[in-house]
Amino acid sequence: MKHLYIHIPFCHRRCSYCDFNTYANMESRIEAYVTALCAELAMLAAGPQPPPPRSAEAAALRPTIFLGGGTPTMLTLAQMERILAAAATLVPLEGAEITCEANPGTVLERDYLRGLRRLGINRLSMGVQSLHDPTLRVLGRIHTAAEARQSFEDARAAGFDNLSLDFIFGLPGQTLEQWEHTLETIVAWGANHFSLYALILEERTPLYAQVTAGRISVPDDDATAAMYEAAMERLGAAGYDHYEISNWTRGRPCHHNLAYWLNSDYLAAGAGAHGHVYPLRYHNIPGIDDYIRAVTAGQRPVAGTITLTPADLQAETMMMGLRLDRGVGAEHFAARCGSSLDEAYGAALRELMARGLLEPREGGVRLTPRGRMLGNRVFEQFV
Ligand code: SF4
Repeated sequence: MKHLYIHIPFCHRRCSYCDFNTYANMESRIEAYVTALCAELAMLAAGPQPPPPRSAEAAALRPTIFLGGGTPTMLTLAQMERILAAAATLVPLEGAEITCEANPGTVLERDYLRGLRRLGINRLSMGVQSLHDPTLRVLGRIHTAAEARQSFEDARAAGFDNLSLDFIFGLPGQTLEQWEHTLETIVAWGANHFSLYALILEERTPLYAQVTAGRISVPDDDATAAMYEAAMERLGAAGYDHYEISNWTRGRPCHHNLAYWLNSDYLAAGAGAHGHVYPLRYHNIPGIDDYIRAVTAGQRPVAGTITLTPADLQAETMMMGLRLDRGVGAEHFAARCGSSLDEAYGAALRELMARGLLEPREGGVRLTPRGRMLGNRVFEQFV
């Protein structure tokens, strides 16, 4: 098995924009959750394994484990160790890319960070989101910009040389000048990977309610697009490769996310986690107590499955792959989907190329710069 996602659904506090499956004030359940998670991982290890990747591009990825959340760094090192030991029965730790999401403001002391490295975690993905303290407060983040910087330096000092930072643009009250200053600052920090996302106002979040009630305003689409362009320009000038719509790196792309973008199979464990082993997609029970109860009763905690058709597989392979700068390779598409790009989408691809939204690349296709800005118009052609 090559790719495994593990969900840790605990946070100190809910951020105002967040609609992830995560819960605050549930610390008392962490120990029981870890026990259940290890039991689910053992069930997955005893079950059928996804077939090896068919395309050369997907086969070239490292095996990966991704501890996401939520806030995985709320776990103790002993709990992390138990989870990784259980995960190792599915994905050998040796040679794997093992990522842990981390939030500044949690116990990111150097000893803890060194402990994570010792356990084999070799990539840290740190959610910083903003370097503007008043904005961080509006977002409900539990850290200041200075604390984020300190956590980043501590992580480097603890031996994490593969470090990614997450930021959001288009934030309440954010100006282009503020964002440009943020870009200057983070380039100076020298992380090897950035994930930069435009704010999405998710219904059912406090931020959505505040914006729709007119109490808080966010930049309009044009202003947000200008921020995206500023990111492309500044990070490009600093030597970062814009390898995916929202991701930049200097030589260390995230192999786990590349597996998603190549529409690979992966297993997932934990409350609310989603897995994909074609033709099935499954999602787990979202609630922590329900999840623990199901696993403790010896059941796989699956809440639902969807059976994908070959047409779904083709559409998803296009929509995910076109997020990559290199686009969708002809060999990859054919190996994953069992038909050539031309057989599946010849007419649509020719039309998108005529409109300047796609361009050919090494037998495959990729988005043009204009296509990147209008990605949704391209993706809808494949649904
Ligand atoms: S720390 Fe992350 S997962 Fe937790 S509430 Fe905030 S955005 Fe959501």
